Parts: sequence; C-alpha cells; structure tokens
Amino acid sequence: MKKITSRTIVCFFLALALVAGTGIFTVKFFMEGSTWSAFSANRHLYTNKVLNTGRILDETGQVLAEYDRTDNKWKYSNNSYIRKATLHTVGDSTGMIGTGALTRFADKLTGYNVITGAKPIFPGGRDLYLTLNADVCQTAYKALNGHRGTVGVYNYKTGEIICMVSTPTYDPASPPTIHDGDKTYDGVYMNRLLSATFIPGSTFKLITATAALEKIDGVENRTFHCSGKVMIGDQLITCPDAHGDLTLDQALAVSCNCVFGQLAAEIGSDQLAEYVKKAGLTGSLSINGIHTAKSTFDFTYGGKGGLAWSGIGQGKDLVNPCALMVYSGAIANGGSAAKPQIISHTAFEKGVRTSLYLKHSTKKLIEEDTASKLADMMRNNVINQYGQGNFPGLTICAKSGTAQSDHTDEDNAWFTGFLQDPDHPYAFIVLVEEGGSGSKVAGKVANTVLQAAVKSE
Ligand SMILES: [Zn+2]
Repeated sequence: MKKITSRTIVCFFLALALVAGTGIFTVKFFMEGSTWSAFSANRHLYTNKVLNTGRILDETGQVLAEYDRTDNKWKYSNNSYIRKATLHTVGDSTGMIGTGALTRFADKLTGYNVITGAKPIFPGGRDLYLTLNADVCQTAYKALNGHRGTVGVYNYKTGEIICMVSTPTYDPASPPTIHDGDKTYDGVYMNRLLSATFIPGSTFKLITATAALEKIDGVENRTFHCSGKVMIGDQLITCPDAHGDLTLDQALAVSCNCVFGQLAAEIGSDQLAEYVKKAGLTGSLSINGIHTAKSTFDFTYGGKGGLAWSGIGQGKDLVNPCALMVYSGAIANGGSAAKPQIISHTAFEKGVRTSLYLKHSTKKLIEEDTASKLADMMRNNVINQYGQGNFPGLTICAKSGTAQSDHTDEDNAWFTGFLQDPDHPYAFIVLVEEGGSGSKVAGKVANTVLQAAVKSE
C-alpha cells in the first residue's frame, strides 16, 4: 500500500511538471514565436544567412531598406547621406550593427503569425515603419561634420525618436574593410546614443542642481562666491575665470565649477547616488527591446575632492547619452517623460497596419516643482549665456557641457535640453567628440537639427 501511495505521489508530480512545462511553452510560443521563426537558420526566411523579406521605412514612408528578390540582396536609400545617417538604426544585412532593425526587428519584417508561422497567409514580408525622420537624420549627420559623436531628438510626450545618428559610420551599400586600430572607424559598429557611456562634463550639473534644490534648504536664496579656484578636500577645483558673486541660476548659466563642486560636497555621496538612481541614469531603458547602456558613477572615490569633481561631471562619472536626453524630457514634462521608442508600426505592403503605437511613460524622475525650476534655469541659460540669437524661432531650454577626457586631445562638446513648444515637444542630446566648446560647437549642431525637426512636421 505504501509503495502505491508513493508511486501515486511521484506520478502526480510528473503530471504536474508536464502541465506546467506545456503551459510555459505555450506562453513562450505566443510571446517569442516570431523571434524563434526569425532565427537565421530558418531557410524560409534567409538566403545565405541574410533575411530575404520586408522593407524598412521612416515615418514619412521614405524607404530606407528593401529586400530585392531579383538581385537577392538588400537595397538601401538612394541617398548616400541617408544611408550613413541611418546605419545604426537600420543596420546592415550582415548583422554587424547590433542595434540595427535588420537584426533586432527581423521578426517584424517576416510577416510571421502564430497560425501559419513563417509562411504567412498574405505573401511577402512586412513593412516596418520607424519613428525616425530620415531627412532630419541626414541633417544631423552633416552637422556633425566628420566628428565622432551622436545626436538624439525625441518627442517627450509620445516617445517617438525622430533623430538617432551615431558617428563614425559607413555606407551599408559598400561596407569598408576595417582594420584593427583604424582611428577613422573607432567604435563604428556601436550606436553611441544607446550603447555607449561618456564623461558628461557640465551637463551633469543638472543632476547636482536637482539634488541641491531638494536637499539644501534655502539654496535658491543663497549668494555664492567664486574666486576662480577653491580647495575641496585635497583637490583644487578651478574655473576659467573668477565668476564673483553668483546665485544658483547664475552659477548654472556660467557653469561655475567652484559652486557646483561645493554643492556636491555639501549634498554628500549617498544623496548624490540616490539622485542619479532616481534620475534613471543608472538603470537601462528598453527601446523596443534594445537595452541602453547603464550610466556608472563612483561618488566615494577620492573623498570630498573626488565628490566635488563628480558633482561637476568629471571624476568617475560615465553617462549614457539617451538617458540624459530622457532626463531633459522629464524636466520639460513635469518630472516624467514618455519612454523613447523607435518602431512606429508594421503594415502589409499595401499599407494596412498590423500593429499599433502604444505610448509608455518613465516613472517620476524629478519632483514636479523641481522640474519646473530647472526648466526656468535652463531657459535662463539660453537667454543670458548661450544667446537666443543662436536659436532663431526656438523656445529652447538647455545646458552645455565641455568634458575633459583622458582618451582624447580635445574636449568633448555636449548640449542637452528641450523645446518649450506644445507643437514640437522635443528633447535632445548632442555629443561632438573632440569638438571643443559645448555651447558653441554642440549648441550649433543642436540648432541646425532642431530647425530641421520643427520644419519637418
Ligand atoms: Zn566659477
């Protein structure tokens, strides 16, 4: 009897495992079936390991890549600037670009469905519409003017990425032979907006200012003094000139290192760590399943002096450009922003949509009241420091950065911010590696790209 009871229990658990296993498989089949089907060993969909179906288009319907069944290869835009500007978003047919749609969204191009699998009811692949505007990308690529760097522009209300350009790049229609150590193609396969981290320089003062506004009582009414240099811990922090007496707004506008170094030391390493986390910098964003690189910090390194350098965006800070763009979007949008997305929708060849665009939001990255104060301060930066005349017709709020890097001879130029414009709610990030001055060089790129983005609507 005992034997039968124990066998019954064993059988019961085996049956339970079978039911659970079937359940898990069924869920995975519905969730991931399209990805399994798009695996490169599937000969229905691949010719010589190259996906052989579908088209990729920008938001206006401009074709960026299309499989040519006569020549059995992918054909890209006729415009070589657009081919280079969209390389890191569209990808290449050999899969060298990890973030490219041809690799990451192969399942969207195949026309796969759960009923008939890889042999769809309606033949032909799908059209994958991206949120990008290829002409704005082209403008950004030209504005970077041969520098390494990245430009991102996105709608902080809807999440649509309008511009995503990463340089160096190449023409996917005629890929170059790249040798190890070739500086022209340094990091060419990497999408700098999504997959890289850089020293943020003074753009990080936005985070220090956020923490100061919330954690230091009366900081807005204080008058600081900058004599051009100050000892914090064992570190000498310097400004290019003595800024004299300053309010917090003025210190952000002139990007005073002495004031922001002191503020970081006063805020303390634990609280600054809390703020980079709350700002979403240390997490990873999922852009239609593509995970962005996490920003990294070490606020305990080098005591108070090290903390002061971190507070002004040097030290051990490494920030992902896309995360910083979203932070700017959250400042613009009352504390949280739409999550960036690159897929608009998929459609049959004849234009009938097969998917919807759904908006998703970040959690609260900044308190609403603080976001509003920061927005005013960033508007003040433009009016009193960068010059509204450099951004004709744009109600732009911004922060520049000029970051020193150990790996480069010249400084990296940054510019991030947003438009206060209900018809064009765009947040942006510009990084020009070895570009020099943030507001002059990266600010000029931002203006050129934003003018094109506003006109494109
Ligand atoms: Zn100063």
